[in-house]
Amino acid sequence: MAFSHLSHLDCARCGTRYDADEINNLCTCGSPLLARYDLSAVTVDPGDIAQREPTLWRYHEVLPVRERVISMGEGMTPLLPLPALGSELGVPGLLMKDDGLIPTGSFKARGAAVGVSRAAELGVKAFAMPSNGNASAAWTAYGARAGMRSVVAMPESAPLINRTESAITGAQLYLVRGHIGDCGQMIGALIARSGSALFDASTLKEPYRIEGKKTMGYEIVEQLGWRVPDVIVYPTGGGVGLIGIYKALLEMRELGWISGPLPRLVAVQATGCAPIVEAFKAGAKVSEPWPNPKTVAFGITVPKPLGDFLILDALYATEGTAVAVEDADTLAAQALCARLEGTFICPEGAATLAAVRELRNSSWIKESDEVVVLNTGAGAKYPADVDVPILNPGDPLVSGYAR
Ligand SMILES: *Cc1c(COP(=O)(O)O)cnc(C)c1O
Ligand SMILES: [Zn+2]
Repeated sequence: MAFSHLSHLDCARCGTRYDADEINNLCTCGSPLLARYDLSAVTVDPGDIAQREPTLWRYHEVLPVRERVISMGEGMTPLLPLPALGSELGVPGLLMKDDGLIPTGSFKARGAAVGVSRAAELGVKAFAMPSNGNASAAWTAYGARAGMRSVVAMPESAPLINRTESAITGAQLYLVRGHIGDCGQMIGALIARSGSALFDASTLKEPYRIEGKKTMGYEIVEQLGWRVPDVIVYPTGGGVGLIGIYKALLEMRELGWISGPLPRLVAVQATGCAPIVEAFKAGAKVSEPWPNPKTVAFGITVPKPLGDFLILDALYATEGTAVAVEDADTLAAQALCARLEGTFICPEGAATLAAVRELRNSSWIKESDEVVVLNTGAGAKYPADVDVPILNPGDPLVSGYAR
């Protein structure tokens, strides 16, 4: 039995085929490359996957890594029912895939585990990337475990925790005045000057992080007993997770592991940075760069995603939609989720709950729909965004306890 059934890479736009066992970045046409598998050779029965270890590597036949797995136990995070919040929002079948419980505290660990493992077995010794914070924290951590060196650039407004995480794992860290696009330009120049010493690990410029993130799709379906929900709601920055989940659904359909209509996919953005929502509303195939992007949901501050055409494709093909939510609604949803369900989720994850409220109000989501939202990270990584009431000794109890 082959550990991986990876066969080749092909361009998501023009279809040009590339050798998967060489180091590749973008297609010559400028578009991302996607990993392709010999799915007809996959013989495992999905039911047998239940016996495997509870990490994303349980889907190794459809992952690109051939032999050298760099792992910290990532994947198989809980699919939590949210009964109290669901009843509050009028969606009793509300579930949350909780990637707050994963190494480095965000789902970027999925992309990093697979991306770094694959880069390591292809001989990469050092990589560079721009990041809003969590990607850098994850890639430098897995990079350290693989014995690789790393260079990252993040906006100086990125959360302090992400700087610390990256620096302590030994990355060379640049803070840039500007947004992630500015960081990308700086990293691009560094890579060009390095010859081929630095591998470009920017989002979608390397083909394999999407393969790590697609495992969210496999896990949701496995955790529902090899069946799909009605709706999946995703906080969309670069859109890698959404593109990945859609890719996973198509692969599972080809494998015969699922059948029937696919879930409607929803891209959630912040009103302060919503290029995909604008493009979707206009029925466009690509997005326009968003001027002055700004939101508390830092991980989804991407003014012009490289894979915008793939995100939009996935939304149109699944009869999905795109929604922009206000930061105030995101923070209110974060507090409500913590109060009703006891889970402290990240602002990006909370944005999906604010979106569910809007989509339920407009009846796009029906009461009978089974809806899975993605919480992409731990709220504990962003303590500064939360404003909580504190009592001083001598203050009366707010309510309920006095006899
Ligand atoms: C990066 C990030 C996102 C957005 O991920 P994409 O797949 O690139 O759209 C969402 N939430 C958090 C916490 C992130 O770090
Ligand atoms: Zn191409």
